[in-house]
Amino acid sequence: MTDIFSIPVSPIAKSRRDSVDFGHLTFGQEHTDYMFIARYSSGSWQEARFEPFANLSLSPFALGLHYGQTVFEGMKAFWQDSGQVVVFRPDRHHERFNLSLERMAMPAVPKGLFMQALMQFLELEKAWVPANPGSALYIRPFVVATEPRMGVKISEEYLFLIVASPVGPYYAKPLRVKVETHYTRAAPGGTGFAKCGGNYGGAFLPARLAREEGFDQVLWTDANHHEFLEESGTMNLMFFWEGILRTPPLGETLLDGVTRDSLLTLARDMGIRVDEAPVRWRVLEGALREGRNVEVFGAGTAAVVAPISWVQLQDRGYPCPAGPEARMFVLRDALEAIRLGRQPDVHGWNHAV
Ligand SMILES: *Cc1c(COP(=O)(O)O)cnc(C)c1O
Repeated sequence: MTDIFSIPVSPIAKSRRDSVDFGHLTFGQEHTDYMFIARYSSGSWQEARFEPFANLSLSPFALGLHYGQTVFEGMKAFWQDSGQVVVFRPDRHHERFNLSLERMAMPAVPKGLFMQALMQFLELEKAWVPANPGSALYIRPFVVATEPRMGVKISEEYLFLIVASPVGPYYAKPLRVKVETHYTRAAPGGTGFAKCGGNYGGAFLPARLAREEGFDQVLWTDANHHEFLEESGTMNLMFFWEGILRTPPLGETLLDGVTRDSLLTLARDMGIRVDEAPVRWRVLEGALREGRNVEVFGAGTAAVVAPISWVQLQDRGYPCPAGPEARMFVLRDALEAIRLGRQPDVHGWNHAV
């Protein structure tokens, strides 16, 4: 076991924290004082250190800039009522990080290095964890290929960084979404289950086209026949369908969301029926047309629960209940209560700094 405070720190001259307006935080705009950085070469991670947040210097030949070997994670840290800073389920984020890295033929980050870097990072940056209700420090670990070579090949050099951004309360404005039946996010055998850069780059154009048609996001469907619903933009897709919590099953084309897993677990704890089974959009359409009570929402670290108030299925659209009385918010509140230490953390999800 390595000493938790053993990674060297190049100290900042002066914290930027006092120049940041914590009352008006926009997602991902402000960075904290430090970044963690480690270098991979000759088959191992080395030179782990904390440095003042600064631009990177990369060769224009760096493989990651050309061929997309980039993988990231996103998680949050909170102040609990007791005055303790906690990170939510970092072990699960670490496992997924390595699954993504493996899929992209990139080197794994050992759990010891990941946790030590994360915990020391939070110790250094505690003052950057916002205290106002609903706020959090969003933490972004990522790995990028840096070997300077023009030829298409697996990089033998990488950087592993951790950066963070204080984020304000997520304003859960209900989303209007359309079911995407032309473009594909993920195909069987592809990289859909990995949090790798290309998945997002490929999703931007369909998202922009949807916005031009007046929608906030697309609901992705399967690559084979565009028949089954898979995800909601960059969130997992869930339904409160006449009292049953339904969500598409995990597989190669879905991201295994930590929020999805947590909400399913909490629902089971509460005695809510849970059904992880494929959902045809035509079946959703039938239910909405008959006026059945179907709540539709996205689940992810940023919003926890993102209500959807309108679903467009080709040329017909349907409203969905997304008001404050919706049952999806009972799940969100249960998750928040655990994060803030207001309910017992029976599953051991909070990792204290
Ligand atoms: C990150 C992500 C999610 C949500 O995962 P969380 O661990 O809950 O944040 C869902 N879908 C996609 C495509 C994602 O990138």
